[in-house]
Amino acid sequence: MYRTHTCGQLRIADAGQKVTLAGWVQKARKLGGMTFIDLRDRYGITQLVTEEDPGVGREWVIRITGEVVERQSRNPKMPTGDIEVKIEKLTVLNKAQTPPFTIEEVSDGGEDIRAKYRYLDLRRAPLQRALALRHRLAQEVRTYLDGQGFMEIETPYLIKSTPEGARDFVVPSRMNPGEFYALPQSPQTFKQLLMVAGYDRYFQIVRCFRDEDLRADRQPEFTQIDCEMSFVEQEDVLDTFEGMMRSMFKNALGVDIPDPLPRMSWNDAMDNYGSDKPDVRFEMKIHEISDLVKGCGFSVFDGSEYIGAISVPGCAEYTRKQLDELTEWVKRPQVGAKGLVYIKMNADGTVKSSIDKFYTPEQLKAVADALQAKAGDLILVLCGPKRKTQTQLGVLRIEMGNRLGLRDPKVFAPLWIVDFPLLEWDDETQRFYAMHHPFTSPKPEHEKWFYSDKKEDLERVCANAYDFVLNGTELGGGSIRIHNADMQSRMFEVLGISREEAEYKFGFIINAFKFGAPPHGGLAFGFDRICALFGGQETIRDYIAFPKNNQGRDVMIESPSKIDQVQMDELCLQSTIK
Ligand code: ASP
Repeated sequence: MYRTHTCGQLRIADAGQKVTLAGWVQKARKLGGMTFIDLRDRYGITQLVTEEDPGVGREWVIRITGEVVERQSRNPKMPTGDIEVKIEKLTVLNKAQTPPFTIEEVSDGGEDIRAKYRYLDLRRAPLQRALALRHRLAQEVRTYLDGQGFMEIETPYLIKSTPEGARDFVVPSRMNPGEFYALPQSPQTFKQLLMVAGYDRYFQIVRCFRDEDLRADRQPEFTQIDCEMSFVEQEDVLDTFEGMMRSMFKNALGVDIPDPLPRMSWNDAMDNYGSDKPDVRFEMKIHEISDLVKGCGFSVFDGSEYIGAISVPGCAEYTRKQLDELTEWVKRPQVGAKGLVYIKMNADGTVKSSIDKFYTPEQLKAVADALQAKAGDLILVLCGPKRKTQTQLGVLRIEMGNRLGLRDPKVFAPLWIVDFPLLEWDDETQRFYAMHHPFTSPKPEHEKWFYSDKKEDLERVCANAYDFVLNGTELGGGSIRIHNADMQSRMFEVLGISREEAEYKFGFIINAFKFGAPPHGGLAFGFDRICALFGGQETIRDYIAFPKNNQGRDVMIESPSKIDQVQMDELCLQSTIK
């Protein structure tokens, strides 16, 4: 027998028992003729003690048998800290090379080395906690959705391009030379076909693949909780999935979220927070001040479509240097502002700004009043085209929120964003793109504009689309779908997709809609992001057992990698890379 207990199990009540434990040697240290070993498994650490030198090194795998005894100096920080096990017999099950970094709560290893030895990094408690949380949440999802009558159905990975707007990963087909599968960016079309097939309530915890540039919250393959329902309106979908999130918060974190969840229109989110994924844990809302500052002779403002501002509490003491630095910060390409205007609401009641030359103190006071700024606050102003400037103010707002410590990861502020525009005009390519994806339906009351040929009309169409947002991150999104072949064809037409192209890419779904498609809708949640936010982290990497690095590489298995010529030939592939 390898073990009678795990390394996290024994307590003072077990004193006197003879036990067998197996695990890894976290560390061994000698002290006054005794050797103490910390034995670790995924359940915890138990201290072992022996009078002989057992000669074991870090990460050796051992089994011991011995008696549980009360510790002389108890360690209240460890669940097993009241006891230790006096070794009677020790068996080495496997030796280990000295690991390249310490396998502790906080490791001394850098990111690259830990990625190369991911299986060693995964032994560390923080990663084990992360994956345990992920497991817990997946179980919650399954239990909840099963309870609501959802069926988990798998959909294929080797498919055809799906329209989520990213680049596809493709797989060459040996049996069909010169042809390629695309890996799903999501199971979107398949879940809709399942609705046509009458499956009514579908879900899947499923891998999706998007060939995009990577960030802290993006991986080339990631997991969605993908869902679809038939005979539903937006309200039914929001209600069902609010329930799912509520049970996840409650059962995994013990956190109660508001019932019902707040909702905000896309328009209000953009106007007040400069983002379609607002972090509503803190105020610092954006205010338009165009009417107050235009026409006063300051040409920068006079020539701008929109002038907006935020009032940052308690930052009036920012020095010249800090303000210069902040100005450079907003000019970085990631923010993209041309410059920054400030108004300091000094503690002594005076007002000092970078535009004093153009405005009287009364005019600046009127701006401060509009923002409800108080003495000690710093007003930051940006100008330019409306949505672009609001977005920049949104980024600045988040930055100031971070600097002021207003974004506590232990505080959760979920909400729904609704009433998205259906379409987004792109100046560069001079065409509309679907804001969500081309299967999203227009709001019934906006259908008249949807069939209009005027750009202004099409821009006004709102979609039956919704996003679930938590703490400034979009955790999920979906829509009520188009379920009518004619409307779907119209959508492709609006998107500038020719009949032939639509037929080639999506003929199967337009066709399916001709065979009695029920009204349906759904959504998908980013499961990795949910795990990370529930765990209080921004990066999803720790919540994925084997993630890729920023270059999309798995440095442990050294992938992607070259394939040999035989395989290339079989696939009828030729490389232009020497
Ligand atoms: N397939 C969509 C996505 O991946 C979600 C949905 O509309 O259900 O974003």
